[in-house]
Amino acid sequence: MEFLAGSLLELITQTSTNLPPDVRAAMSIAASQETPGTQSSQALDIILSNVDMANDDSGPICQDTGMPTFVVHTPVGVNQLAIKRAIREAVAEATRRGKLRTNSVDSITGKNSPDNLGVETPVMHFEQWEEDEIEVKLILKGGGCENKNAQYSVPCNLDHLGRADRDLEGVRKCILHAVWQAQGQGCAPGAVGVCIGSDRAHGYDLAKGQLFRTLDDVNPNPVLAKLEALILEQANTLGVGAMGFGGKASLIGCKITAANRLPASFFVSVAYDCWAFRRLGVRLDPATGAISKWLYRDPERPIEHMARGEGFPLTGREVVLTPPLTEAQMRALHVGDVVLLTGDLYTGRDNVHKHLMKNPPPVDLNGAALYHCGPVMLREGDRWTVKAAGPTTSIREEPYQADVIRRYGVRAVIGKGGMGKKTSDALKEFGAVYLNGIGGAAQYYSRTVREVVDVNWMEFGIPEAMWHIRVQNFAAIVTMDAHGNSLHRDIEERTGEALATLQNV
Ligand code: SF4
Repeated sequence: MEFLAGSLLELITQTSTNLPPDVRAAMSIAASQETPGTQSSQALDIILSNVDMANDDSGPICQDTGMPTFVVHTPVGVNQLAIKRAIREAVAEATRRGKLRTNSVDSITGKNSPDNLGVETPVMHFEQWEEDEIEVKLILKGGGCENKNAQYSVPCNLDHLGRADRDLEGVRKCILHAVWQAQGQGCAPGAVGVCIGSDRAHGYDLAKGQLFRTLDDVNPNPVLAKLEALILEQANTLGVGAMGFGGKASLIGCKITAANRLPASFFVSVAYDCWAFRRLGVRLDPATGAISKWLYRDPERPIEHMARGEGFPLTGREVVLTPPLTEAQMRALHVGDVVLLTGDLYTGRDNVHKHLMKNPPPVDLNGAALYHCGPVMLREGDRWTVKAAGPTTSIREEPYQADVIRRYGVRAVIGKGGMGKKTSDALKEFGAVYLNGIGGAAQYYSRTVREVVDVNWMEFGIPEAMWHIRVQNFAAIVTMDAHGNSLHRDIEERTGEALATLQNV
């Protein structure tokens, strides 16, 4: 199969950089229905521009290129071991080319594999079938949305919705609860794959498998088709909105399957995927490995341009900030303000925050803007270049953030999805703010980077190292201010009230 390696590399590259047409269509509809001028609408504008940029530059749509998960069907007699080897080689090559981030971490040592290969990564599922061709499907689902997956063992009691029983009405409540609890942390608007029944492990697998359906298909089971439509309609009355900023678009797809269960168990498993819903597939000639057909794509239909204007239309009311930042500058900001950062940012995520609990920072963080970001970086000659650099989910740093702010003088924390009470209290006490970037807009933000100045703690691996980057006009929204206000808390409360109105169909 002389063309197999190239075909798989092209599949990975296209999946990472070119959003499938059904997701593009759903996002266009979501953007067209959003109220113009709102924060959600601004977020969608950036998202649409980001999708174009990724395709134009063949760069990752989001810096988190997820857990590469391949589902392969082969005719009887095809050597599956050869395909497994080719997939691993293609993943390593795509990583070298900056199409995938180094995302495979040894769970015992914490060491990040340089080529994305490791124990059980990438994930591969093989099946035989009676067709003549090989089919390879790939989904790249990132950690932010993966962390918002949910599994319910019914009967159970749910926030705002009361009891969920062992029937389809209980299932409806569980799915709505899963959408609500994701808020902006899974980069809404998202899509859910759901499995009713099965056991815990296989239920999650089947739920994720539903994400291989196109968003615009109709479930062949009329009962499930009706439930899917109902969930989509009701979830979009919650008001979570893009990035959890509050708005009309909370969900772009709901795909449900059902599997038999044990009499004692009734699980509802929900796989939540973000707007950067990256999955594609190919059919391959079993003799040569050449691509005979793309799945999820209409070859007759050209790739549509998505942006409705400039990515982030400036109004002139934006607050321009140049670190180092002062307490007075931060106290002057309020939730809803849009800021444009120009100057130096330091990245820091899980390893950096944990390490800072026992070790001083390698740079002076007084007045600094700390960016929750695990970028895709490539070494080109003697320089690092940024290939993708959007914000990561901030809530993971909640146990550490307040201490980092107080101990080291950080004045602005940039991330997505918001943070909790402990951080909010520290922002108020110390005079600092939380700035919400647009999750998944990795190309948009990488274009604001003028220079990669330095890197520290490289032993944590590329995504976890502390990068020193110089940016220009890095746009973000104040969603937690130094006065104790939090847009995230407000939206969670407001959407909780909306959820309660859906207690009964
Ligand atoms: S869009 Fe958001 S949730 Fe999705 S992979 Fe990127 S950062 Fe993670």
